[in-house]
Formats: sequence, structure tokens, C-alpha cells
Amino acid sequence: MRRPVLQHHRDGRPLIVEGHAVPVRAPDGALVGYVAAVLDVTAQARLSGDLAESEAKYRNLVELSPDAILIHQHGAIVFANPAAARLVGAAAPDDLVGRPIIEIVDPGARENVEWNITADLRGEDSPITMVEILRPDGTTVSVQGRGACIPLRGRPAVQVVLRDVSEEKRAEAELRETGERLRNVLDLSRDAVYRFDLVADRFDYVSPVAWTLTGNPLEEFAAFSLAELLVRIHTDDRGTVEAITAEAIGGENATVEYRFLHGDGSYRWFSDHFVGQTDEDGRTCYRGGVVRDVTREHEDREALRRFAEDLERSNEELQRFAYVASHDLQEPLRSIVSFSQLLERRLGEDGNPDVRDFLGFIIEGGVRIQVLIQDLLQLSRIETKAQSAEPTDAGRVIADVLGALETSIREAGATVEVGELPVVMADPAQLAQVFSNLVGNALKYRRPDAPLEVRVRAERVGPSWRFAVTDTGIGIEAEYFDRIFVIFQRLHTREVYPGTGIGLAVVKKIVERHGGRVRVESVPGEGSTFYFTMPAV
Ligand code: ADP
Repeated sequence: MRRPVLQHHRDGRPLIVEGHAVPVRAPDGALVGYVAAVLDVTAQARLSGDLAESEAKYRNLVELSPDAILIHQHGAIVFANPAAARLVGAAAPDDLVGRPIIEIVDPGARENVEWNITADLRGEDSPITMVEILRPDGTTVSVQGRGACIPLRGRPAVQVVLRDVSEEKRAEAELRETGERLRNVLDLSRDAVYRFDLVADRFDYVSPVAWTLTGNPLEEFAAFSLAELLVRIHTDDRGTVEAITAEAIGGENATVEYRFLHGDGSYRWFSDHFVGQTDEDGRTCYRGGVVRDVTREHEDREALRRFAEDLERSNEELQRFAYVASHDLQEPLRSIVSFSQLLERRLGEDGNPDVRDFLGFIIEGGVRIQVLIQDLLQLSRIETKAQSAEPTDAGRVIADVLGALETSIREAGATVEVGELPVVMADPAQLAQVFSNLVGNALKYRRPDAPLEVRVRAERVGPSWRFAVTDTGIGIEAEYFDRIFVIFQRLHTREVYPGTGIGLAVVKKIVERHGGRVRVESVPGEGSTFYFTMPAV
């Protein structure tokens, strides 16, 4: 017999043929010829080539497969690929051959697997099963497996494919855990988190606290459409909500506050911080946000606003009262004082001494009230007679003040030294009042035993000028530094130093009206410096 050879048919087709030739001999043994038979074996040759090819292909597939492939016959492993060895922790695939397949399964799952093996052997379709594989080191691997019955060397066998799904299981568990943690946070939060599906016109998520917040059972609330939500918003707020929503739906963050009808019939203030979310085509299809109940804050804010309003009103009333009272009191007081003085003159030197004394008390008391009223008027005029701030030359202002105080300065035997003073933004009359009160005090609170020196200076501090009025007077104890600026607070009796205790309160009010601050530094027995600031031009 000869090896197959390639021939060509008359029509040009390739043919694989096998030729057999038998010699034909004559009775004497001489070769007469050959009887030859030529067989067309093209089909068989193709078949055996295909088989080899296909076997190589499947062997590669099985060797390289990331899935574990095992074949067992009646429970004993007859074949394992490298992935199977890796999966079960065997050194080489051949180590598995001969071992009962059930041994590689975690004892807890064996019963189920045996049942499946029986089904596989019967040729039934067993379902994909989750199995725990037990490794020699005691660890387990979760796999998904399925078997199928195949004939092997004339006997039934089961081919099993196992896939390691422990990574997926871990990821799934992690996802579940993260979800649970997130749910816990959302459950605990006092803010409601939501996502509203604008296409389906209903929430696709709303956290459980929405129930407490809105007073509507969660399932009922979650099924509300946008229209059903909008009718629950206070009519006064609906317009704002719709306007802000329309503006923000392009993807910007927005916060809107509105009153929402609670299940108990009352309105609650909600602060809704939300953002529009778009799909791949750029259409806004979700609105996600966080809602906080800010009713308390609103009530507090409202109470504070009302309180401030009341305060402002009563302040205005008080100021009007102080002004009117002091203004209208002046007139009758002037009459009392001047008629008493007239009476005193008429009485002459020979009048009843008691009556003269009494008249003296009346006049003294009246004059004191006049001074007090003057000072009170000064205080109330800070607001009522205020001019707006304008560039004011402080040098000119102090010169005028010192001119008006000339007699007092002379009487006190004081020297007054004024440094270079700036132009500041101030109401000129009020700046004059400040200088007048401070220099007036310096003259009044002088030491009888030491010459008085008064100095007025200014220094630039940031956006302001800081003025300093320094004297060498009696000084003030540090514990009174704040108290002296409070109205009617005096450190001496009228007999020692006359006064009403209003002068520094006026200074403080004027300075603060100009956005400045005032304070004192002093050493008792040595002197004091009053500092105040005024805005620069
Ligand atoms: P009055 O001078 O009418 O008492 P003020 O409000 O001007 O009221 O001053 C409050 C108090 O501050 C004064 O009673 C005085 O004790 C103290 N005081 C103010 N200026 C000086 C000063 N230059 N030196 C010492 N003490 C002063």
C-alpha cells in the first residue's frame, strides 16, 4: 500500500488518492503486469485533518480557559485543566485525577452537589449552582458551576465547568454594605434626601425622614406628582419656587425656601437645596435635593425682626419724647428761674432771710435742671439734628471750639497745644461737640495743685484718623474706663465737680454714628488720654 498522493481530476479538482498494485505473474514466475486499484480518499483525508485541527483547538481552549474544567466518571475525577488545579489549590492538574470530585466541595454544600451529579449523569439539565470549594489551606472559594453528561471511552462522564465568583460576591457584599451604611445615614439624618424623576413625574427616591418632615406616610408621599407637591406649597411662595426651579433646572445648584403644607394642616418652612440632573442627551430629567425643616429658624428670625422693629420704634419714640420734653420744659423753667430772680431783686437786702434762702434754692435748682435739659437735648439732637458726613477740616473745628472755651481755658490757667489735624468725613457740628465735651472735661477734671496741659493730636490708622485728647488732670481708675461712657455715670459728686454725666455718652454716640470707636487710657493722679476715630476722606 502506498501513501496517499495528490492528483488532479480531469476537471481540475484536487484529488487525494491511494493506489494499490498487485503484480501478475506467469506460471513460471515471470512478471506479466500489475493489477492496480486507485482509491479516491479525498473525503477521509479531509475528515482526519479536520479532527486533528479541532482537537488542537479544543485542547487549547481547555488549557487556557480561565474557568476550571473537570471531567469525572461516577464521581472520580478523570481530567482537570490548569485553572481547576489553581482553583482548588492543587499543584498540578494531574494531582486531581483519581480523586473523588465531592472532596473538593465544602462539606456544607456536598448534598446539593451529589444531587446535581446524579441529575447530570441521567443527562438532565442541572441548573447553574453556587458552590463553595474547600481548599487545602481551609479557605473557601465561591464558584458558579454547571455539569453536562458526555460519553467518554464508551462510558458516561460528566464535564463540569466552575467559575470563581468570589470577587463578584465580595463586590456585591461591599455594595450591599455601602448601601446599608448610606441608608443608615439617610435614616438618621434630619434632612430628607430625594430624587425626583421629571419624566415619570414621581420620586424615584425619597429618604424615610420625609414622613416626619411632611406628615405624609412615606409611600403616599413618594407617589406624589409634581402638581400634587406644588399644591401643598403655600400660594405666596409658589411663584418663587417655580421661578427658581426654572432658573436652576439647567444644572446649577439652587436653594429655595417655602412653606409646605404638613399632614397636620399647618405650614412648615422648608429649605430645599437642589440641582437638576441631565441625561446623556442633555435633557433635564431628574431633580435631586436635600430638604431641611427650617421652621424654628424662621420663627426665630421673624421674632428677631419684630423685636428689632419694636426696638427701633420705641427708640424713636423715646428720642422724640426726650426732645419734646426737654424742649417744652425749657420755657416754663426759664419763667420759674427769671421770676424767682425778679422776686429776689424786689425783696432787696432787707427781706426776710428765710424767704431769700428759699428763693436761692429755687433758683439754684432751676438752673441745675436747665443744664440737665440742655445736655439731654444735646443727646437727643445727635439723631434728630444730624447732618450727613462731609469732608471736615478738624483743625478749623478745634480752633472754633477753643475760641468758645477761651474764658474757661484762661480761668483754668491751662495751656492747650494742637498738633496738625486732618480733614475727615464727619458732621462738622457733631465733631465740634466731641472736641468741646472732651476739652471741657479736661479743663473741669484738672488737679488744683498742678498746671494743666491739654494736647490734641491725630494719627492715621488704616482707613481712619485716630484723635487723642490728652490732659494732665486727676486721671481715672482703670475699672471705670467703660462705665464713664454710660449716660448719667459720674465718679464724683456735684459738689466736687459739677456735671450731669451725659457728656461722654454724647461723645460715644456721635463717634459710633460715624462708624468710629472711643476709649480712654489714664493713670490716676497723672492724667488721661481720650482716643476716638473718624473715617478719613
Ligand atoms: P460729667 O462730666 O457731666 O460728669 P461725663 O460723661 O462728661 O459727665 O463724664 C463722666 C465721668 O467721667 C465724669 O464724672 C468724670 O468722673 C469722668 N471723666 C470724664 N473726663 C475726665 C477727665 N478728662 N479726667 C478725669 N475724669 C474724667
